[in-house]
Amino acid sequence: MFQLPPLPYDHAALEPVIGRATMHLHHEKHHQKYVDTTNELLTEAKADFTSLEDVVRRAASDAAQKKLFNNAAQLWNHTFFWTCMTPKGQAPAVDLAKAIDRDFGGMADLKAKFVELGAGHFGSGWVWLAADGETLKLVDTHDGDDLLTHKGLTPLLVCDLWEHAYYLDHKNDRKAFLEAWFDALPSWAFAADQYAAALGEGEIWRHPEPIASSGTGVAKTRSDLGR
Ligand code: FE
Repeated sequence: MFQLPPLPYDHAALEPVIGRATMHLHHEKHHQKYVDTTNELLTEAKADFTSLEDVVRRAASDAAQKKLFNNAAQLWNHTFFWTCMTPKGQAPAVDLAKAIDRDFGGMADLKAKFVELGAGHFGSGWVWLAADGETLKLVDTHDGDDLLTHKGLTPLLVCDLWEHAYYLDHKNDRKAFLEAWFDALPSWAFAADQYAAALGEGEIWRHPEPIASSGTGVAKTRSDLGR
């Protein structure tokens, strides 16, 4: 069974970009629902699994498991989303900043392209900064789709493009949300760790492990959540 991972910061920590009310709904209603539905479907199927990554990848390869894929991937995506943000404004470390200069022409250009891709994405989904080996790329995915099924891509950052992520705070102005988000909330320390892992140094982020259904343990979280 999977558990709803705790937020790595207070519900109001990301204000004014993401307000407290949005955080409560997004985490305790939307994210929780993906946890619950994933657990229900895995229980019904008596599925054997070792990790959420395992569940997502296996469900993605079977059209009959579309509902499980959507919910398990959304569970993974939201935990990654909370993890890749921080209220403590940061700038990228030197290595990542150099890669951003090389592949996008600088931070201002990366922001412009990130916002353009996310604002232009039709419907619900996600906009990612990813590493393809040492090359940085921007990728958008639809609905619950994530980068676990996009071979070779390591996610560094993601922003949620579903309306539930921004409607209370920014109404229909997704572009304004993305601009404010990019300026204030990315955890560049987390992104740098993911980039290093993509280059073979250190471990790539993994979702907290499932617990035995009879267990009372608390979901494990990476020790540096919320930096
Ligand atoms: Fe969401």
